[in-house]
Amino acid sequence: MSRSTTQTFNCPCGTEFTGQLYEYINAVDDPQLRYIILAGLVNVSTCPNCGRKMAISTPFIYSDPGYNLLIYVHPRADTPEEARLLILEKLRSVYMDANKLKDQPAEGEQQIKGSDGSIGDRTINLTHSQATELPPLKVVFGLEQFTDLLNSVLSPEDKLGRLAMSTQSRNTAERAQFHIIAKKLATEMECFIDVEDMPDEYTVWIYGSRRQVGALMRELAPRG
Ligand SMILES: [Zn+2]
Repeated sequence: MSRSTTQTFNCPCGTEFTGQLYEYINAVDDPQLRYIILAGLVNVSTCPNCGRKMAISTPFIYSDPGYNLLIYVHPRADTPEEARLLILEKLRSVYMDANKLKDQPAEGEQQIKGSDGSIGDRTINLTHSQATELPPLKVVFGLEQFTDLLNSVLSPEDKLGRLAMSTQSRNTAERAQFHIIAKKLATEMECFIDVEDMPDEYTVWIYGSRRQVGALMRELAPRG
């Protein structure tokens, strides 16, 4: 299960609303979260009154066992080198403790290795017995760097797909009805939606894997 807390936002329009703030994301248990990340909408909440998007920049852990990924994502790509080293050192001890709790401390080599010596991805290497339990923990600085990494490993069918449904109706009730229908379609396909509420046009974007969005498009295509 993924883990999140509820965060309260105070929008400049005067509305107070709550949103989910993810600390741990498991892409197998909650597949739609993988696409929320790829759409750049993780830990972003939308004001229900004015549509303004509010983002909270917070680190989270991304686990995707199907792709053997365990990644600590620090949202800031401009984290200075010293701060990076501190974060890595702290993570290393937490990761070791997590392993010790499960099992006897394993013998052998444990080290933090930089892939390029300076910035970017790093891998914490564990012994063979530990590695069979947990994938190596990668540390990535920057959400964009993280989505690039994810995109580079996902199979074509698992990459992000999206579909826009829009109406030119200015009628609030009709737009609400449109929203309900789009949301229902998206939920059935384990996809999620993002709304663009403009005066002339109301657009609902549906995001999911290319597989799911492709299936949805086939379902929506006229028959005959
Ligand atoms: Zn607002």
